[in-house]
Amino acid sequence: MPEYIQESDFIMVEEGFVAKDLMEQIINDVSQTDDRDAFFVADLGDVVRKHLRFLKALPRVKPFYAVKCNSSRGVVQILAEVGAGFDCASKTEIEMVQGIGVQPERIIYANPCKQISQIKFAAKHGVTMMTFDNEVELSKVSRNHPKARMVLRIATDDSKSSARLSVKFGAPLKACRHLLEMAKDLNVDVIGVSFHVGSGCSDPKAFAQSIADARLVFEMASEFGHKMHLLDIGGGFPGTEDSKIRFEEIAAVINPALDLYFPEGSAVEIIAEPGRYYVASAFALAVNIIAKKEVLLEQSGSEDEDHCSNKTIMYYVNDGVYGSFNCIFFDHAHPKPILHKKPFPDQPVYSSSLWGPTCDGLDRIAEHIQLPEQYVGDWLLFDNMGAYTVAASSTFNGFQQSQIHYAMPRAAWEAVHLLHQGLPQTEESETLCTPMSCGWEISDTMCFAPVFAQTGMI
Ligand SMILES: *Cc1c(COP(=O)(O)O)cnc(C)c1O
Repeated sequence: MPEYIQESDFIMVEEGFVAKDLMEQIINDVSQTDDRDAFFVADLGDVVRKHLRFLKALPRVKPFYAVKCNSSRGVVQILAEVGAGFDCASKTEIEMVQGIGVQPERIIYANPCKQISQIKFAAKHGVTMMTFDNEVELSKVSRNHPKARMVLRIATDDSKSSARLSVKFGAPLKACRHLLEMAKDLNVDVIGVSFHVGSGCSDPKAFAQSIADARLVFEMASEFGHKMHLLDIGGGFPGTEDSKIRFEEIAAVINPALDLYFPEGSAVEIIAEPGRYYVASAFALAVNIIAKKEVLLEQSGSEDEDHCSNKTIMYYVNDGVYGSFNCIFFDHAHPKPILHKKPFPDQPVYSSSLWGPTCDGLDRIAEHIQLPEQYVGDWLLFDNMGAYTVAASSTFNGFQQSQIHYAMPRAAWEAVHLLHQGLPQTEESETLCTPMSCGWEISDTMCFAPVFAQTGMI
């Protein structure tokens, strides 16, 4: 069995020590110097915990992690190690995942509109599962990838999601019949249906509706002689505890919909493409204040007003919207700083704004926030910075991307090994552990119930 991640890839944190303590330690170390670059601490234990939670809440669904959400090496390695599959959208993402040793059967090329050279790349590297939602894609694939196993992406009602995707992708139901017919004529193998309810979905009914729609498409497909056996329920799951809806509440709607429309025994393999869910809460970012400006506000005239309140303070920090905070623009995020230096009781607060290091006036992280006075060299911390942050970060203006320090709690590392080895077969688990048709190395997720019990991780 290949090993995708080793102890040298992360910092092991021992019992009683958490990723936050590692952040504190790094801050202490670098604060002895002038070299106070912004940095991330990524808690890989949190990613492992999310995985166990996924398997528990959606026992019939195999997760294929959406690489675009955060393609940092440690994340991809740990997810490969625990047995996840991968949703890749480009040649580079496929190369990255295969570069750490993941077999092509564990990859879905889930981009309905692909460049021809990249379709050829997938063909050459054994990646056969791919999505489509239009005629032109079918003819491109029929000419360039004869072994492709296509998945028809259908549109969803994504009106309750923070980032809508069906404006760009997904065939409406009324177009499906024609696409399935055309696939038959072109001799293209269509193996199933996929959808995405939009990222940051707050309405689980969107999943139930799309699962019902997928069933209709399965029926249509059989009319044309396609033997569909894959349902891909996409991403959209929340990644932090302060989300409008909990992951388990969404799962509680998905499971009965699956049992109704794709009952166990119907020989349909079910996968999902969670992105945000796996990584959002695992990453915390520490930024350092590099400059500061006080701006006096217009005197309001009132004499007895607290003298502190007539100024606002602008802080300049060493990561911004061209870097990790691109989530403000691309992911509608509103990051809030946590003070590293605890304020003393009754310390006055000032209206403050936070700015990134580049020379662009757009590069603003937050405004009108009330903070006790901070100084150059102080640290500000941001939680929940794992989803759509590092992924789209640039080096605009010559500012480097913030470094990532990976932390792994010992208990999580032990759980990883249990997951990786699989568990001794008991009579009960034997019946539950059918090898996965997509060729995974680990046996069915049902087998891992004892991992939950043994590690106490969830
Ligand atoms: C972005 C994307 C995902 C991941 O979405 P999340 O909301 O982060 O879970 C999954 N599948 C596809 C096709 C995507 O484009």
